[in-house]
Amino acid sequence: MSEFSLDLNEDQLQIQKWVHDFAETVVRPAGHEWDEREETPWPIIEEAAKIGLYSFDFIAQCFADPTGLLLCLVNEEMSWGDAGISLAIFGSTLAVAGIFANGTPEQAAEFIPQCFGTPDDIKLAAFGVSEPDAGSDVSSLKSRAVYDEATDEWVLNGTKTWITNGGLANTHVLVLSVEPELGSRGQASFVVPEGTPGISQGQKFKKMGIRASHTAEVVLEDCRVPGRCLLGGKEKLDERLARAKEGKKTSTQAAMATFEASRPLVGAQAVGIARAAFEYSLEYAKERKQFKRAIIENQAIAFKLADMKTRIDASRLLVHRAAWMARTGKKFENGEGSMSKLFAGETAVWVTEEAIQIMGGYGYVREYPVERWHRDSKIYTIFEGTSEIQRLVISRAISGIHIN
Ligand SMILES: Cc1cc2nc3c(=O)[nH]c(=O)nc-3n(C[C@H](O)[C@H](O)[C@H](O)COP(=O)(O)OP(=O)(O)OC[C@H]3O[C@@H](n4cnc5c(N)ncnc54)[C@H](O)[C@@H]3O)c2cc1C
Repeated sequence: MSEFSLDLNEDQLQIQKWVHDFAETVVRPAGHEWDEREETPWPIIEEAAKIGLYSFDFIAQCFADPTGLLLCLVNEEMSWGDAGISLAIFGSTLAVAGIFANGTPEQAAEFIPQCFGTPDDIKLAAFGVSEPDAGSDVSSLKSRAVYDEATDEWVLNGTKTWITNGGLANTHVLVLSVEPELGSRGQASFVVPEGTPGISQGQKFKKMGIRASHTAEVVLEDCRVPGRCLLGGKEKLDERLARAKEGKKTSTQAAMATFEASRPLVGAQAVGIARAAFEYSLEYAKERKQFKRAIIENQAIAFKLADMKTRIDASRLLVHRAAWMARTGKKFENGEGSMSKLFAGETAVWVTEEAIQIMGGYGYVREYPVERWHRDSKIYTIFEGTSEIQRLVISRAISGIHIN
């Protein structure tokens, strides 16, 4: 049996450094511009594809890491550079997680490479669950998938909202209701491949933060996809629906399986933003002089920084534990995935606000990145399950009681 260690291995350290260099030299310097432009940063995505950072092979290498930590390290470094740009580059991985969690190996082999394309022909992907009337309550999805036996096709109708890369993506992975009366147990995930008629982009949203990341509605109007686009296959779905109708326990629900796999990664992004703000405000506090001494020489400032660092490290440990558990097949008995996202998300909001406080007026203006990091951090208590929903998951898991 190997000794317990929190050390990263050589491969992880090497990739962490490679990604950090890209984040430092390409992503961080572009953060302000793309936040102001509020557009998808194509030149940066192209750079990432050129060096192999945005590619099927790299993501496959990350998923294959037996410790589960590699993708967290990558997400942390990229968000340290800029969370909006990082999400523009890695937004596709949520769709990949959806295919990976719900699809057969054949479907993964067919559809996951299509989420990335090649450096000469870059593709993006999107994962869509949320609807105008179904946010936290994913059991109430109204969009429908109806099977057409004559043509072996699924006919998709409805509107998805708040979708990262929605409409812009080449491949969409969407969760729809097949049997609405069964709630989330009557839902399934579908791939809508590039060029499928009947899918279009609705409204594009103007946001508070992560503004380099595209967020929009996705509209489905009699959108027909072949039978093989139902993730997991029809036989498995029919079995699951039959069990649900008999009132028996069913295996994983489509949307939940994806979120369980991705929550530690979202937590890692929040850690990256918090670390950026901590490092920046620490340096500032050492240099800024008031009353003839550096402001860090005041406990009021130094203790803030001590608390910021402590909470960031605690967040990372929760994130790494959850990622390691997920990769090594350990069950989340106490909502560990939710804990990691909850704590890291709230830490990022708190740390970035404290960083603004430490920098005073300089923290509040757009010439400096800290106010942007604060705006970027807020989404981490909202998407992929709000903080309240994470607390519901944890409290139900630890109590065995259906807390409302
Ligand atoms: C920038 C951005 C990107 C996004 N990207 C995606 C994406 O790619 N794919 C996707 O599917 N979705 C995406 N979303 C949607 C996101 O996941 C939802 O916004 C989120 O799940 C919350 O849903 P809602 O906004 O409808 O809020 P609501 O569910 O209406 O919640 C409103 C408030 O009520 C609280 N609340 C609700 N129910 C309970 C309860 N039972 N107990 C206690 N409190 C409760 C919530 O915590 C929240 O504070 C994105 C959202 C944004 C803003």
